[in-house]
Amino acid sequence: MDFDLSPELAALAAEARAVGAAGASRRRHAEDGWLIGHDPEFALELAARGWLGMTWPTSVGGGGRTALERFVVFEALISEGAPLATAYFADRQIGPTLLQFATAEQQARWLPGILAGTSMWCIGMSEPDAGSDVASLRTRAVPDPDRPGGWRVTGAKVWTSGAAHADHCYVIARTDPEARPHAGLSELVVDLASPGIEVRPIVDQTGDDHFCEVAFDDVAVPPGHLVGELNGSFRQVMRQMEHERGGIDRLVSNHRLYRDCLPLADRGDERVRQEVAALETGYRLGRLLVLREVLGQAPPAFSAATKTFCTEHEQRVAAFCGRVLGPAAQAWDPADGESSATSGLHERVARGLTYAPAYTLMGGTTQILRTILGDRALALPR
Ligand SMILES: Cc1cc2nc3c(=O)[nH]c(=O)nc-3n(C[C@H](O)[C@H](O)[C@H](O)COP(=O)(O)OP(=O)(O)OC[C@H]3O[C@@H](n4cnc5c(N)ncnc54)[C@H](O)[C@@H]3O)c2cc1C
Repeated sequence: MDFDLSPELAALAAEARAVGAAGASRRRHAEDGWLIGHDPEFALELAARGWLGMTWPTSVGGGGRTALERFVVFEALISEGAPLATAYFADRQIGPTLLQFATAEQQARWLPGILAGTSMWCIGMSEPDAGSDVASLRTRAVPDPDRPGGWRVTGAKVWTSGAAHADHCYVIARTDPEARPHAGLSELVVDLASPGIEVRPIVDQTGDDHFCEVAFDDVAVPPGHLVGELNGSFRQVMRQMEHERGGIDRLVSNHRLYRDCLPLADRGDERVRQEVAALETGYRLGRLLVLREVLGQAPPAFSAATKTFCTEHEQRVAAFCGRVLGPAAQAWDPADGESSATSGLHERVARGLTYAPAYTLMGGTTQILRTILGDRALALPR
């Protein structure tokens, strides 16, 4: 089997690497740009290059390109640290969800802004008392008594990435409180400029504030904003999570940090060489798992395993970089400044170590994903 990219794909990857590196140079550091790198101008550049909605049908304005083309573009962009977050959640999962479950009228309303890189979306799933257990969500949507077909939403979401910059939130809300917990949920597109919404950024342990609390106080949602089946969100959200879990972003968030630390590693030490070999092998295995997902060759629910393997690889990368730079990076303090010799690497490694636990939490924790793998992919007995 020939694993090399065709000359056309290799050229596309090289182009994306150059664009990604230029975008990353506008950021303080190059890691996790798909999640925290908010940059509206870069979103416009992605759109101008036809890199948003690359694989969506041309009939809705998409690029009609192959999954492999999108894979090489985003592997290159994210590996370089490109600031993708403004456009990425919509490109990765909201657009595909709308293509699968929304009406033609809804697609015509929302897809053009996503493709143009001018509308930013966030995902309102987790709540203060419901993270892993989606079935226990409590945010309520009740029919609007003043507007047939409309809804009024009340509740709170938390850890909502990008909400402070987004203009739409894809909310999962309880629309039938009498139904079994899994059965009474629906999906609503909520305009974040609506009266009654308060967005409060949360500062994480790295000092960054990309995710937020979002409070909804009797927020009016117009008719035509419920996506898919009333009370049918659970099935839809499982599909949406496949888009979220099986992608290349789960493997390469800190790949640039690895590349930048590798030349400083003591390769005269055989234990270091073994660790490098394990990381190189892990990267290639993770890449093959992601390729199976994006090419539609993975079994149902297998994205749980793909995300687990890939995000644990990202944590191993962070730990390796911490060992390479040693205590100077691990004890680095912003007040210490940075020597020109390491040109920002101490700060990046310190941040990378602090941030690493998040990889196996977001998008479903490793414990939950192992259960999904056992239950749904391997059909193991409980
Ligand atoms: C960086 C980051 C970005 C995020 N962005 C978003 C976003 O944009 N939108 C959004 O909706 N959410 C977002 N999240 C939230 C994320 O999806 C949740 O943190 C995650 O689903 C876990 O939920 P929780 O934090 O409530 O933890 P809990 O569900 O309370 O779990 C706590 C611990 O208990 C374990 N646990 C829970 N239940 C079980 C069980 N049945 N079996 C075994 N172990 C169990 C978990 O594995 C975990 O270790 C983000 C999180 C992070 C870290």
